[in-house]
Amino acid sequence: MAHDQRRRIPRTDVLLAELSAFVPTHGAPAVKYAIQQAAEQARCGEISPDEVAAVAGAQLRARAEDATSLQPLLNATGVVLHTNIGRAPLSAAAKEALLSAAGYCDVEYDLEQGTRARRGRATLAALRAAVPSASGALAVNNGAAALVLATSALAVARQRPEIIVSRGEMVEIGDGFRLHELIGSTGARVIEVGTTNRTHPRDYEEALSPQTGLVLKVHPSNFRVEGFTAGVEIADLAALLRRAEQEGRVPAPVPLLADIGSGLLGPDALLPQEPDATTTLEAGADIVTASGDKLLGGPQAGIVLGRADLVDVMARHPLARAVRVDKLTLAALEATLRGPLTPTHRALHHDLDELRARTAAVAEALDAQMVPTCAAIGGGGAPGVDLPSVAVALPAALAPRLRTGTPGVISRVEGGRCLLDLRCIPASADAQLIAAVQAARTEA
Ligand SMILES: *Cc1c(COP(=O)(O)O)cnc(C)c1O
Repeated sequence: MAHDQRRRIPRTDVLLAELSAFVPTHGAPAVKYAIQQAAEQARCGEISPDEVAAVAGAQLRARAEDATSLQPLLNATGVVLHTNIGRAPLSAAAKEALLSAAGYCDVEYDLEQGTRARRGRATLAALRAAVPSASGALAVNNGAAALVLATSALAVARQRPEIIVSRGEMVEIGDGFRLHELIGSTGARVIEVGTTNRTHPRDYEEALSPQTGLVLKVHPSNFRVEGFTAGVEIADLAALLRRAEQEGRVPAPVPLLADIGSGLLGPDALLPQEPDATTTLEAGADIVTASGDKLLGGPQAGIVLGRADLVDVMARHPLARAVRVDKLTLAALEATLRGPLTPTHRALHHDLDELRARTAAVAEALDAQMVPTCAAIGGGGAPGVDLPSVAVALPAALAPRLRTGTPGVISRVEGGRCLLDLRCIPASADAQLIAAVQAARTEA
């Protein structure tokens, strides 16, 4: 191809702007990659410079249709963490990290020395940096795996298989999975103490025995007990366990394990009831476990934070290999921890005036009404916390057609209306949302 022809290939930033509609669903890295591929084709003379944008666009469309049967969706439900549609959406930085790690990468290799290195060391360092009160950190497949590994390594493998849990914390986490059954599957014996609504320090004290391997506190993240209730705080439990050890009522220290569920690393003023790793460890928990794809806003993972000696025992247990995370998760988790605020954080803390302005503009473009509504955190987190929100109200009949459009739009059907809450939709996708509604209307 003549030099002149080659100079006619539009600049990448111009092409990126032209294809920006693909960014919310495909991510900037994938759009950039498609542009680079098409530009390369133009440089080789396979296509004309004028065709670069069209070819890149076609590639992106084909990618969405062919590479995976999973459909990218716009979440207009107002439920920030929606388990059925993939819980936390990854940040742009985390998506970039996934692509970087997809090929060969130094996940377990020291480039200076040319030798094997600790797997995921940068991710674990980022976790410890985010929670300085933890001297040890580990990432496993998910929150459930973290709990199974903790009970196997810290209780069952050390010949002290009894795990004490309050009856008020016997949680079913969804799809029929019950934490006490999960723990029981490791060979541990769950010792239930207290009642559904009230558990006292003496309940724990009376249950302690030479067989006690762990005391477990589970955050009841998807329900609330109100009224005549009592529980034992982490700090009181930690003090109680120290006393039992000093008085020789247990032969060895009993670790206190807190399953906080949602993965907040520090306190969030918006969610005062939600426990966080830093506060829980400072209050005296020895180990904290949590999910990576709830309020932390990262990839599916189980986060383990706490005393380095105990984390080490967990990391060396044979099961650790079975529940370890892959390089993609390590990359996305590191980017989530180091990166800018996550989409989950931004959706939760969305400025209401700004949301109103966006919603009003979309409602006007669609000749529809804007109505006040309530968003929710979801994903089994922070029940009882309602986020004041707004939505575009459409006829309920549009909901199924929106779901099966491209991109699919998941709305909330309430009071005979189809509500579109823009809170969990990036502002850059508002035009896509409008187009999707228009397409669904013409289908009618
Ligand atoms: C969500 C949750 C779990 C399970 O975590 P996954 O990452 O979904 O396996 C366990 N415990 C609590 C308290 C939870 O909220």
